Amino acid sequence: MEKIKDVHTEHCCQIHGCKYGPAEWSVEANSWVEIKCTVKDLVAPQSFPCEWCGDEDELDRAYEQNEMFNRGAAWAIQQAHDLAAIIFGG
Ligand SMILES: [Zn+2]
Ligand SMILES: [Zn+2]
Repeated sequence: MEKIKDVHTEHCCQIHGCKYGPAEWSVEANSWVEIKCTVKDLVAPQSFPCEWCGDEDELDRAYEQNEMFNRGAAWAIQQAHDLAAIIFGG
């Protein structure tokens, strides 16, 4: 994708849609015109996660932290076992 930056890349979301659309009043055309959203049309990547994406990121982060904790706990238990084996010759 091209490196374009506009109001859409700063505010819209590929998943959650255009913050400005789907249409706007055009004075020249004297009618509603469909807003071309660079993000929604996959012309440019969005710069930031939108507010709803943010929520999903929070979930991801919580999940990752939980994963890391579980991995850390498993590692600590393994270490304890190894240490016990050394000390007690098990
Ligand atoms: Zn947009
Ligand atoms: Zn989003």
